[in-house]
Amino acid sequence: MEVGASSLIVAALFGAIIGSFLNALLYRFNTGLSIARGRSRCMRCGHTLTFFDLMPIISYLGLRGRCRHCGTRISIQYPLIEGIAALVSVATLLTAPTPLLYVLWFCTWMTLLFILVYDLRHMVIPWSASGTLAALSLVILFLGSGSFVIPGIWALMAGPLCALPLFLISLFSGGRAMGWGDGIVMLPLGWLLGLSAGASALMMAFWIGAILGLLLMLFQFLGWKGVRSRLTMSSEIPFAPFLVLGAGIAYFLHVDFFSNLPLLF
Ligand SMILES: [Zn+2]
Repeated sequence: MEVGASSLIVAALFGAIIGSFLNALLYRFNTGLSIARGRSRCMRCGHTLTFFDLMPIISYLGLRGRCRHCGTRISIQYPLIEGIAALVSVATLLTAPTPLLYVLWFCTWMTLLFILVYDLRHMVIPWSASGTLAALSLVILFLGSGSFVIPGIWALMAGPLCALPLFLISLFSGGRAMGWGDGIVMLPLGWLLGLSAGASALMMAFWIGAILGLLLMLFQFLGWKGVRSRLTMSSEIPFAPFLVLGAGIAYFLHVDFFSNLPLLF
């Protein structure tokens, strides 16, 4: 798609606004609070936030990360997710062949971002999120680069084949090494990326996980208090965030270790 500078600015603003919505969704999901109704409030003093407190990124910088009324620190998660969403929106616009595919891919990445943060915080992936991801991936798979296509056998098998190793790990470890949820996230990632990039994303997820695990062990060995208390709280490390990171690297940076293997086309 031919995109000018002004469309990129609009895409960045749109991404930041959706990121702000995603923050509200992450905060309110499963709490009984309505996402559509009810104004946002400061979690400490309960003061209703005005329009000027809710501008993505800008408000956080303007308020220097503190509530206007009580001075409580606002989580860095808010501007971080808004910034990432803005960046992803621009990157998606630059890679999508049609406006419809931009919308579909952007929704897909936002669902993945939701899964990443939610799994980090709660060690579980909501079924509504993995269901949305699966539906989006199938629509993208059958839409091809703009018009309806019947995907080839390898494109259809990419999902199950990429997810198979994760399902086997959770099966043989009785769900201890890995939950079912990780395979259920990998399935649509395989459809979205194809077999060779999907397998690359899976490999990168394991590497990122291994490097992070080693770093955590090192920090624990060195006796860093914050890390130690966090590790004893739960030795479980969620895997879906690594899958999302691996998929992001494979998709946006075109990292593909197996593209030279003819079988995989
Ligand atoms: Zn406050």
